[in-house]
Amino acid sequence: MPLSTASEKIHGFSENLHSTFASRYVQTSLPRFSMPANEISKEAAYQIISDELMLDGNPRLNLASFVTTWMEPECDKLICESLNKNYIDMDEYPVTTELQDRCVNMIARLFNAPLRDGESAFGVGTVGSSEAIMLAGLAFKRKWQNKCKSEGRPFDKPNIVTGANVQVCWEKFARYFEVELKDVKLRDGYYIMDPEKAVDLVDENTICVCAILGSTYNGEFEDVQKLNELLEEKNKKTGWDTPIHVDAASGGFLAPFLYPELEWDFRLSCVRSINVSGHKYGLVYPGIGWVIWKSKQDLPEELIFHVNYLGSDQPTFTLNFSKGAGQIIAQYYQFIRLGFEGYKSIMENCRENARILRDEILKTGRFDILSKDMGVPLVAFSLKDKSQHDEYEIADHLRRYGWIVPAYTMAPDAQHVSLLRVVVREDFSRTLAERLVRDVRKVLLYLDARPPKSIEHPHTAVASVNEQPKPSRNSDRDHLRALSVFDKTLNSVRAFKVWKKNALHKTNGVC
Ligand SMILES: *Cc1c(COP(=O)(O)O)cnc(C)c1O
Repeated sequence: MPLSTASEKIHGFSENLHSTFASRYVQTSLPRFSMPANEISKEAAYQIISDELMLDGNPRLNLASFVTTWMEPECDKLICESLNKNYIDMDEYPVTTELQDRCVNMIARLFNAPLRDGESAFGVGTVGSSEAIMLAGLAFKRKWQNKCKSEGRPFDKPNIVTGANVQVCWEKFARYFEVELKDVKLRDGYYIMDPEKAVDLVDENTICVCAILGSTYNGEFEDVQKLNELLEEKNKKTGWDTPIHVDAASGGFLAPFLYPELEWDFRLSCVRSINVSGHKYGLVYPGIGWVIWKSKQDLPEELIFHVNYLGSDQPTFTLNFSKGAGQIIAQYYQFIRLGFEGYKSIMENCRENARILRDEILKTGRFDILSKDMGVPLVAFSLKDKSQHDEYEIADHLRRYGWIVPAYTMAPDAQHVSLLRVVVREDFSRTLAERLVRDVRKVLLYLDARPPKSIEHPHTAVASVNEQPKPSRNSDRDHLRALSVFDKTLNSVRAFKVWKKNALHKTNGVC
C-alpha cells in the first residue's frame, strides 16, 4: 500500500507507518449525513469506497438489465481519456460534436429515414431513452398545440396512447409534462399493445401513439406496421394527423440487423420519431440514448435553443446542459469498430444464446416461456405450478449463486402473471447460460424439498378471483412449516417484498 506523508503532517501522527487496513480509517465508521471535518489519505479513501462497493452485485451476472456491462479495453481507454470533456462545450470540443452528428446520421439511416446522400439527419444524443422520450414527447405536444391554435381549438387536454406495458419513463413524461396517458390494457396471453384497441383510443387530442419495439416485460415487438395501417385509415377518415413514436430502446439496435425486412421504422408513414438506448444493444456503457426525427418538420423550431455562451451559435435540444462526452465517443467507437457486420454477428449470437437458454429452461419441464422468438434476446418464463413455490423464491435463491434474475408481475390487466426474466447481452456466453440453467435446476430441487410458501402473495390473491387457491398437497410439509418460526419470518419478509414489487410494479425488473 503506498504511504502517505501528507496525512502525517495534517493529523500529527505517524500514519505513514501503517497500511490502510492498520489505520484508524477502518476502525471508525464514515460519516453518512454530513461532510467529514478532515481529509483522509487518497489510498484510504479509495480502499474504503472500493471495499464497500464490493457488496454491490456483479454487473456481469446482472441478468436483469439490458444495459451494457462490457466493452473492449481500447474503448475503456478512450472513455477514460475523455472523462474531463463536457459534451456541451461544442465550440471547445468540435470533434466530439462532430462524432455525435455522425452517430445521429448513421442511426437515422439504420432506421431508414428519408435522407439524400450526404444529407444530415435530425436527432440528438441524450442520457438514455428516457430523456430521448421526453424530448420526442415534447415535440409532439408542441406540434399538436400549434395545430390546435391554428384551428382555434382548445389545447389544454393533450393525451398519449400506449400499451399498459410501457416503460416507466412514459408515465414520467405524462406526469411531468401534463399529458394524459391512455393505456391499452393487456390480457391473458397477450402482453403487448393491441393496435386495434390503441387506434380506438385515439381522439383529436392525441399527440401520438407510442409503439414499443421490445416490450420490457417479455421482449416482444409490437406490431408497428399494423398500427400504422389502422392509424393511416383513421387519419384519412377524420382528417387528423396522429403520428406514431416508436420506443425502440432495446429493439432499435436489434431489428435492423436481425430482421431487416420487418417494417417498424421511418419506412412507415405515421412514424415521426424513434428513440433508442445506445447503452442497451447499442453496446455502450450506461449514459447514452438517441432520438431521431423523420424530418425537420417533425421537430418544432421553437424547442431548439440557440446559445452562444461558449463561443459560436449552438443549437441545443436536451433537458440537461452539461454531461460527459465519453459515451458519445464510445458509441462512435462501436459503430466504426464493429460496422454493420460486427453488430449483426453480435446480435445473432445473442439471439442464439437466448434460444439455447430457452430450450434448456423448457427442458426442466417446470416453466412456460412468455418471450417470443422474434423480439429482444431474452427469456421470460413463469412457473407452471405455483402452488408450492413461486418465481420470487426462485429469484431469491438464484441470488445465492450470484445470479441477479428479476421476478415481477405483468402490467395491468395481466398482473396475476408473475415471471422471471433473463436478458441475454453480448457478454452472456453459452457457458454462462448452461451454468445458469444448472443453478436453476439446483434451486428447483432445493425448493421442492422445502415447505411451501406460507403467506399468500398478493398476486396469488388476484389470481384467486378466477381460480380458487389450490389446497396444499402435503400436510406433513405444512406441519413442518408450522414448526418453523424462522421460515415464517423469512416468508413474511418475502411477502412484504412481493407486496412492494406489486405495489410499485413499474419500478422493478424492467430497466
Ligand atoms: C430501457 C427502456 C426505456 C428507458 O430507457 P433508458 O435508456 O434506461 O432511459 C424506455 N423504454 C423501453 C422500452 C426500454 O426498454
